Amino acid sequence: MSLQAEIKKQFSGFCLEVSLQTEQGIMGILGASGSGKSMTLKCIAGIETPDTGRIILNGRTLFDSQKRINLPPQKRRVGYLFQNYALFPNMTVTANIAAGIKGSRTEKKAAVEKMTELFRLKGLERRYPSQLSGGQMQRVALARILASRPDVIMLDEPFSALDDYLKEELQLEVKKVLDAYRGDVLFVTHSRDEIYRFCGSCVILNQGRAECFGSAREMFQHPRSVTAARLTGCKNISPAKKLGPRRIEALDWKIALNTAEEVGDEVEFVGIHARHLSISAYAQPEGVPRENGPENQFLCRYQGALSRPFETDILLEPVSGSAQKPLWCSIAPDHLKRLPGLTQGALAALSIRPGDILLLKA
Ligand code: ADP
Ligand code: MG
Repeated sequence: MSLQAEIKKQFSGFCLEVSLQTEQGIMGILGASGSGKSMTLKCIAGIETPDTGRIILNGRTLFDSQKRINLPPQKRRVGYLFQNYALFPNMTVTANIAAGIKGSRTEKKAAVEKMTELFRLKGLERRYPSQLSGGQMQRVALARILASRPDVIMLDEPFSALDDYLKEELQLEVKKVLDAYRGDVLFVTHSRDEIYRFCGSCVILNQGRAECFGSAREMFQHPRSVTAARLTGCKNISPAKKLGPRRIEALDWKIALNTAEEVGDEVEFVGIHARHLSISAYAQPEGVPRENGPENQFLCRYQGALSRPFETDILLEPVSGSAQKPLWCSIAPDHLKRLPGLTQGALAALSIRPGDILLLKA
């Protein structure tokens, strides 16, 4: 089971150039809004035609610009869950599900019943899409797709239209269905939580280009590019200059840091997760170094804090030279209470473990 896609398509002002190959299981496509996620899925589904490229699904060529092959969408066996679900508004739930099924009347009836059961749509069979909640519409759309027995399922931001309260329960249900599905799944989202919850592998889309393909877990632990670091939640990113085999200067913060990993020549940025910074109050006068402090410690001035329910994000400005950008550090609210005197302009010491420094390509 695999999907290989090489897609090139030029618009005025936007160029999509994506190369991807699915691995067993659910593959995520993570990208900011406008990075070309939906366009990639539309090309695979056959709704848009690439200028050049090849799309091969389980050995079947769906598209090949050189060989002039371009199968119509209905022959591709691709199940596409649109961002807005795209149910037929003038058809009931049952008719919507049946629309995806090929076969005799009896076969259709049996398959619809199975899907109605599986997606807990009993009692809603005669309703029209306008009479359904967002979650119910999503279940009907998924039932319709699975009923058509596609070779690959593609989900385009499947939870972005739902409110938070509903979302997690639905995510659990959808995850069960997808885990039981034997074909490949492409899961498009701009949410790092969803990638982490659903996907084994992941590709990052940045302005129409696919970069950083690999295991999703690995991507979160060791993002290799600035885009991957940002999309996986790294708030502090600075251009950097290599100082030695394991030493690098973060230019925005004017600080030199030791790294655990060797600094490759391709490294142009460093990233520091807000939660990886340790903070402590600093009582000595500025300029007097603390003895036996932890590695990679530097002084900052407190600028302010934003609270979240279970975490507080503190903004700090490094005091070294003419630092151009502040840093975010997030700590538990309890910890903040144990740092008295942290008021506007107060000094604090930040430190980062060498192993937590992310070395990034542009
Ligand atoms: P995403 O799904 O990642 O938010 P899209 O794939 O919808 O992004 O769009 C990617 C880019 O392609 C956007 O900049 C969008 O404006 C552009 N785009 C999408 N459709 C068309 C089109 N038919 N003609 C020209 N540009 C388009
Ligand atoms: Mg989109």
